[in-house]
Amino acid sequence: MTTELLATPSPSTATGPLADAQAQLAAAVETLDYGAGLHRLLASPRREMTVSIPLHRDNGAVEVLTGYRVQHNFSRGPAKGGLRFSPAVDLDEVRALAMWMTWKCALLDVPYGGAKGGITIDPRNYSVRELERVTRRYTSEILPIIGPEKDIPAPDIGTDERTMAWMMDTYSVNVGYTVPGVVTGKPVSVGGSLGRPSATSRGVVQIALAALAHNGLEPRRSSAAVQGFGKVGAGAAAFLAEAGVKVQAISDQYGAVYAAGGIDVPALAEHVELTGSVVGFAGAEPMDAAALLELDVDLLVPAAVEGVLHAGNAGRVRAKVVVEGANGPTTGEADAILQANGILVVPDILANAGGVIVSYFEWVQGNQAYWWTADEVEDRLARRMLAAWENVLAVSKARRITLREAATVTAVERVAEAHLTRGLYP
Ligand code: GLU
Repeated sequence: MTTELLATPSPSTATGPLADAQAQLAAAVETLDYGAGLHRLLASPRREMTVSIPLHRDNGAVEVLTGYRVQHNFSRGPAKGGLRFSPAVDLDEVRALAMWMTWKCALLDVPYGGAKGGITIDPRNYSVRELERVTRRYTSEILPIIGPEKDIPAPDIGTDERTMAWMMDTYSVNVGYTVPGVVTGKPVSVGGSLGRPSATSRGVVQIALAALAHNGLEPRRSSAAVQGFGKVGAGAAAFLAEAGVKVQAISDQYGAVYAAGGIDVPALAEHVELTGSVVGFAGAEPMDAAALLELDVDLLVPAAVEGVLHAGNAGRVRAKVVVEGANGPTTGEADAILQANGILVVPDILANAGGVIVSYFEWVQGNQAYWWTADEVEDRLARRMLAAWENVLAVSKARRITLREAATVTAVERVAEAHLTRGLYP
């Protein structure tokens, strides 16, 4: 080992998701008995870009937004990860999310490193044309560091297929030819994959059903609460209900609804389509959104944002199984409390990996210009999700560690192995 690899990591002052991500890495490094230099290397983002995004508002005013792209690691392949539009976006959040993408891709054995992008913006306050201008300007600012062999963005909170189409078009116009592989999660009409929009939710439910079965629970005798009714939560609730699970409570950022006998999820989706929120749905009673997390259900799926299970409420969680649809919904303190209370937590980097798996399928299909059927996509997704679940379970048993520790250890080991095999240059 070189001197660099023996250096001591500097003490971190991070808080929030980044502190959690760093603590998870530190625990994995300890389990794997890696030195401080390798630890520092795995903890440090390889590249970070902060950009100003000047925007002409529709009313003529000029506003300057801030955007980020963090490439945490590319030892195993091009960097990969979503683009988030949210008022909560800051550099540390993007760093945490980028690190989690590295572990997610390694755990699922897709040949990518990890990255994340974000713009500090509340998209609800901007018109479609304004969002298009923001997306195109951001894309042209980060253009030098993205590309199908460099870093491949995808949707995340606040962004969607349309955002990806704008990014793909902006990139393509700048390089002078059409490059479908620069982003994933695109509309099918411009090289998107069948099954991509539902992939994260499908994967969440495949893992949730496996975790319930592991706890001796059959879908038809199980109940669930789902926090979030966006790209991940809405699909997860629908697929759980299709599998026979009684989905008793669902929330969004405006409120929550409850029905002891199970919510009619397609009817709720229609209500949300019309009104923009789960609030006021006639087929269920209103409930306190915070209380949803503490319901006496078999399965809890937090599918919204980071840090919703924390030291202040984790002790009141009564679900038997928590399956993390969101990235980072459980803080480190909450994780310890849930574990002490015997609650099985299936970590984000496993549970919500369906999205990036089908992103990988989309990229492969685009590179080959050969398209798979929806059944092919779904079969391959299910096989990868369940193989990863079995693998994480086996590592957790063999090492007597939690599923999160097992998932992180497996992923970190793969990234470290790729790094050590390649060596340091120069
Ligand atoms: N934003 C999603 C995630 O957090 C998908 C990323 C991707 O497909 O690249 O996993």
